[in-house]
Amino acid sequence: MDKKIQMVDLHGQYMKIKSEVDKGIQEVIYTCAFINGPQVKEFGKDLEKYSGAKHVITCGNGTDALQIALMALGLKPGDEVIVPAFTYVASAEVIGLLGLTPVMVDVDPDTFNVTIENIEKAISPRTKAIIPVHLFGQSCDMEPIMKLAKNHNLYVIEDNAQAIGSVYTFSDGSKKHTGTIGTIGCTSFFPSKNLGCYGDGGAIFTDDDELAEKLRMIANHGQKVKYHHSVIGCNSRLDTIQAAVLKAKLPHLDEYCKARKAAADYYTTNLKGVDGIVVPKELPKSTHVYHQYTLQVLDGKRDALKEFLASKGIPAMIYYPLPLQKQEAFKDITKSVESLEISQRLAESVLSLPIHTELTHEEQDVIISAIKEFFKK
Ligand SMILES: *Cc1c(COP(=O)(O)O)cnc(C)c1O
Repeated sequence: MDKKIQMVDLHGQYMKIKSEVDKGIQEVIYTCAFINGPQVKEFGKDLEKYSGAKHVITCGNGTDALQIALMALGLKPGDEVIVPAFTYVASAEVIGLLGLTPVMVDVDPDTFNVTIENIEKAISPRTKAIIPVHLFGQSCDMEPIMKLAKNHNLYVIEDNAQAIGSVYTFSDGSKKHTGTIGTIGCTSFFPSKNLGCYGDGGAIFTDDDELAEKLRMIANHGQKVKYHHSVIGCNSRLDTIQAAVLKAKLPHLDEYCKARKAAADYYTTNLKGVDGIVVPKELPKSTHVYHQYTLQVLDGKRDALKEFLASKGIPAMIYYPLPLQKQEAFKDITKSVESLEISQRLAESVLSLPIHTELTHEEQDVIISAIKEFFKK
């Protein structure tokens, strides 16, 4: 493969763990245990141990994980679920899919995450749940969110699809993995995620025994005993081959997070003095696992910078070009209580640079020089 700079380099990462991954995949094919093979349960146990969650329920993908979480909480049409306006569509799509009402709230311009003040303003008598999204790899400020949720009797579903491996520190000094703080946590193993498999995959985390049983049942056609269906569920399984890949990759997750953080630090050190951009901000309460390294480009120059980088063979991506309140799909079902202007502004100014576990300083130097050159013109 040629060494073009890439947003993510899954090939390079695979080559370093090829023998572990190939052995795992071969074993599944050899034993033909394609559906619910032993690797699925083994990976779930490994992930429980890694995350500290009492229960991990694996499923088909991250969007299913969020849907199954909402189904397990027994929410009814018309119930309101608070969700940030600046996120990937899946966080809010599942709310609409189940006939619930997404209530969009604005985010903090420094961290891209929902703020406690905005959540509080959005709570109504119909509010049943909050979905904080740990966007780009840094935890939302979960301690006040959990406290607010407790005071108002609300469920908290963490969308941890971008932050697996991140750790949040509470005011008493105790630490928890993101995804294990709320009532339920959800994650995705989409290939480009920080812990990605080689297809689709997802998982749900909870410490609640009763909820765990319900989540497991819903992900499996609403049955506990085969052919006896007690609730309406869905068919959402982690494929055994994907479980084998994840079992091989999970022991590397912490080193992957470290590599991403080191790459991010290198960008920040070299870009923080550049006029015209804002580098991402880290908060002391959470580690940042940099699913994305996202700049804010000032003065309407974002698209021009993106084009300039592309002309030099440097990819950059816009996550996300439209805030949820501007998405046609949500037009008729959304309730928003505020202007959401920060989400709009971010959609117009964010630009994510290449970041992955295989990125070298040489590649980053090329990217950094190009950005500096653009702003000197
Ligand atoms: C990727 C992602 C999802 C959905 O995960 P899939 O596995 O692609 O269904 C949900 N929320 C966020 C924030 C994501 O980044």
